[in-house]
Amino acid sequence: MEKESKIINLVRGEVKTLRAYEAPEIPCKIKLDAQENPYPLPVKLRNKILKAIKPLLINRYPDSGAKELKRIIAGQNGVKVENVLLGNGSDELIQAIITTFGRSQGKVLYPVPTFSMYGIITKALGQIPIEIPLQGDFDLDIDSMLTAIKKDRHRVIFLSYPNNPTGNCFSESKIIEIIKRAKTAVVVDEAYFDFSGKTFLPLIRKYENLIILRTLSKIGLAALRIGILIARPEIVKEINKVRLPYNVNSLSQAAARVALENRDIIDKQINAIINERERLYRELLRIDGIRLFPSVGNFILFRTIKNADKIYQGLINRGILIRNMNQRGLLNNCLRVTIGTSHENRYFLEVVRTLI
Ligand code: PMP
Repeated sequence: MEKESKIINLVRGEVKTLRAYEAPEIPCKIKLDAQENPYPLPVKLRNKILKAIKPLLINRYPDSGAKELKRIIAGQNGVKVENVLLGNGSDELIQAIITTFGRSQGKVLYPVPTFSMYGIITKALGQIPIEIPLQGDFDLDIDSMLTAIKKDRHRVIFLSYPNNPTGNCFSESKIIEIIKRAKTAVVVDEAYFDFSGKTFLPLIRKYENLIILRTLSKIGLAALRIGILIARPEIVKEINKVRLPYNVNSLSQAAARVALENRDIIDKQINAIINERERLYRELLRIDGIRLFPSVGNFILFRTIKNADKIYQGLINRGILIRNMNQRGLLNNCLRVTIGTSHENRYFLEVVRTLI
């Protein structure tokens, strides 16, 4: 016991005060909490993936540069291979970006509420988070952002586009102003690009400080853990130096390659999710006691008049897991539901109606 407390005392202060990223693993038959694609890959495509995986030599390290997968991703995004870096999820790329640009007690700027990993990784790496509240309509408070930018030379700025958990895209003109004014790396995190269709990618040619993040997690390949960074080659080269070797394993590389070569199947699923999002939104609009926020992601944020914690628990009791975002401030009594299959969404609506 005594030994344990001694070693614990050696843990860095920033780590000790951190709270781990929480992905509550509550067993529920309907899982609408993690922005996953609810449709499994069709059997035919799964068999193709199995075929690609079978000959892999798992006694050997993977291709560290994931060259083949990068080539496909670069091609599908109209950029060069030198513009692309892959991570074990975009979470790892967020870490690599801050590691690359951070310095002792460096400041990392982002609006809140937003994706919690920006803050967790910032603190874990000994950097100082500067959090600027969004406006009431969840757009950027540009005056406060620019004042913060003027005051401090931040190491990195993160903008989730669309923003998780609010679901909206910030004003394009405000983002451009930030990219122009900030003499620092500006990360536009487009994790939900496949659902929003909105991107800053073409602007990497114009702005040398712009970094785009994407992920394969939301489009049906979450288990593979593949994140994508796209930026100018000179930036990619530097971030690549802090990337751990072999960060994307052989099985994931092969499976993602096959899945992306069959993009039409994935695109069909994405379209189905977008249609379901619109349908779910319309149905939720009809329920009194809910305030809805428009979303271009694969999830919808809503505020309940009744206590959101109770509604969250009520859903769990009926076998549905969503994400409880309820906290003081802008997310007061807010819940976030990921778009499921039409059957799942229908059941979710049915239960919500009984709880509101
Ligand atoms: N960025 C945003 C905005 C997200 O919402 C998420 C997932 N919740 C991620 C990045 C991380 O995605 P992954 O690590 O699975 O690629």
